[in-house]
Amino acid sequence: MNKQDTLEQIDLDSYELPEQQQTELDQFLKICREYMDHCDDEMVARAFKLCYASHQGETRASGEPFYQHPIEVAKIIIRELGMDDVSVAAALLHDTVEDTEVTLDFIERTFGSTVANLIDGLTKISGVFKNKGTKQAETFMKLLLTMAEDLRVVLIKFSDRLHNMRTIQPLPRKKQLAIASETLELYAPLAHRFGLFQMKSELEDLSFKAMDPTGFKFIARKLRDKKESREVFIEEVMEPIKKQLVDSGFKFEIKGRPKHIYSIYKKMMRQQKPFEEIYDLFAIRIILDEPHTKEDCWRVYSFITDWYTPIPERFRDFISVPKANGYQSLHTTVITHTGKKVEVQIRTRKMDEVAEKGLAAHWKYKEGAARGQNIEKFVHWIREVLENPRPDAATEFVEDFQLNLYTDEIYVFTPKGELRTLPKGSTPLDFAFEIHSEVGERALAAKVNGQMAPLRQELKSGDQVEVITGKKVNLSADWLHDVKTHKARARIRQFIRQQEREIADKGRELWEKKASRGNLEISDQELAKVAARLKFPSLQKAFYDLGSGAYDATKFYKYVKKYKDKGRFAEEESSKTETPEADSSYEIVYDEATRAATDKGLIMNGEITDVKYSYAKCCNPIPGDDVIGFISRDGDVKIHRVTCKNTRHLIQTDRDRIVDVKWAPFTGDQFTGAVKVVGEDRVGMINDIANVISKSMNTNMKSINISSDSGMFEGTLILMVKDIKHLEKVIKSLQKVDGVKLAYRYE
Ligand code: MN
Repeated sequence: MNKQDTLEQIDLDSYELPEQQQTELDQFLKICREYMDHCDDEMVARAFKLCYASHQGETRASGEPFYQHPIEVAKIIIRELGMDDVSVAAALLHDTVEDTEVTLDFIERTFGSTVANLIDGLTKISGVFKNKGTKQAETFMKLLLTMAEDLRVVLIKFSDRLHNMRTIQPLPRKKQLAIASETLELYAPLAHRFGLFQMKSELEDLSFKAMDPTGFKFIARKLRDKKESREVFIEEVMEPIKKQLVDSGFKFEIKGRPKHIYSIYKKMMRQQKPFEEIYDLFAIRIILDEPHTKEDCWRVYSFITDWYTPIPERFRDFISVPKANGYQSLHTTVITHTGKKVEVQIRTRKMDEVAEKGLAAHWKYKEGAARGQNIEKFVHWIREVLENPRPDAATEFVEDFQLNLYTDEIYVFTPKGELRTLPKGSTPLDFAFEIHSEVGERALAAKVNGQMAPLRQELKSGDQVEVITGKKVNLSADWLHDVKTHKARARIRQFIRQQEREIADKGRELWEKKASRGNLEISDQELAKVAARLKFPSLQKAFYDLGSGAYDATKFYKYVKKYKDKGRFAEEESSKTETPEADSSYEIVYDEATRAATDKGLIMNGEITDVKYSYAKCCNPIPGDDVIGFISRDGDVKIHRVTCKNTRHLIQTDRDRIVDVKWAPFTGDQFTGAVKVVGEDRVGMINDIANVISKSMNTNMKSINISSDSGMFEGTLILMVKDIKHLEKVIKSLQKVDGVKLAYRYE
């Protein structure tokens, strides 16, 4: 019988612990009863026993038995975070599924689905954690935040880390450094975001201690040395206030705790100041005991300001407007009679607990409701805090606003437990394309968390997704409505275009058959003109409509024939050659003298100026193009083509900044021109194109981008030319290349 079966056959209710562990359990239950209003002792006892039984034989680096670790984590959960019995059971069992033979099924059967869900969440998080790296770290943060479904997972994870940090000493130095830096980068900021100030401070100090023991000891010793003088100072400053509070019947406590060690260290580093100038930056805290209310806080505030002069700019009212993480307090900085500034924080006991323990304490204070409702309220409250930071409140909120950004993404798992980030609203289809485009194309169905699910079902954070694929491509145009990611959309669109191209090819064949039967010889350029006459946006679209039958092929043929017979093409051709470049406002001047005179000039409003100018990337103007100038904010002139769509926009919105510019005579500059070439995808095509370009005078090819699909290729060439005539010449030679159907200038 293997260990799993053995463990799962234990009857936990009658299982007897050894004497020592039984004593530990009794003590543990005592703590539970002390801190919790309601506690399911039997469930906690069962969790304790399973924790002991499953980790039996394991030891920690310190040599102590491993089961002590989950017990200590559970104690943090109870004493420091004030959480419930379900969290305690989950904390006791947090390492079982991952490290022992215990299965999640067994936990669900024995402890119910809530405990099982918490442990599942914890196991998933630590799986994510094993594939580290900086990007993974960021994702981990986001994952924790989106797993808000049950925030107890996050709080247990924090407690786990806190205990590991408290007991980091026996680990080898290298491991200590790795864990400490991870704690500092990941856990501490996140604890802060959840309002767990006490935990954040301790995590920071423990990390700092592990990374820089000397620095830590230095500051700790100095703090101890100053303790007495600090207490004397507080005593002196607070003496008159204390008296007034006592006389007015207040119940209160005054604390003057210095900042924690790591924050002093950070301040020393940031401000480049010695310890002595930093250490006394501490706040005096006045905590009002129950049943004092927030109104009483304001009374205390008025006592203080009666006695000392407040600095108005430093006043903060976090009581009327709490921070997003629930923090409430009045802050004021006053000048004492010795001229020293001191910050005073005033708050009730309840506010103080929230400040120190964060959200968990807030939950504890939600009175009246039954336990189950309490948890629901807690989770609901946290959601509210995370989702609706108040826009009118202090700047500290900015950081919390980022939480909203995270809710645009979901985090799902592959069957192997790898994490993938997808936009909210994504489906298993998105997931499939995210894995690989081939997986997407062949997707038939999906399993979400082990259950069959349709490909269009919306995924949630934490879902584990498996895609079932077929042997053949199953992609369909309808899928476009079921996907969210760019990757999936792009592939589906490409598929649709490919289908369209096939239909267009069919249309072309149909046309060519008709043309050869009618002995009609016509070039593609001529045919494109006819198509344009018939209001087709392109020749390709005309072929598509012929292929799909949307436009009757015979009708098309008759129209072309009529057009050709009338000789309209010849007519147009000749009228074109009669007016060569007649409207061109510029001339190429090859004269060396002229070039020198206007070498660096831009002709603006008819004059040569030395204004700085550049060419717009959106339309890449070339000498010979009709151009205008647009004055940018720093006074430079951007030159656009008149036909550029940005120009159209600028003319409407910023007419005042438009200036009339002209091309200066030949400057010798090279200009960027883009050319689109469409043709048959045949062997040697790219070579032939490159040859044509290199043979044209002084043309440099900056880049060529080719895509081919079902026998057709489409290329975009970026060329360096000296003017528009130059570019046109190149285009003409490209049109002559065997198999090229279209070549034209392209923005
Ligand atoms: Mn652990």
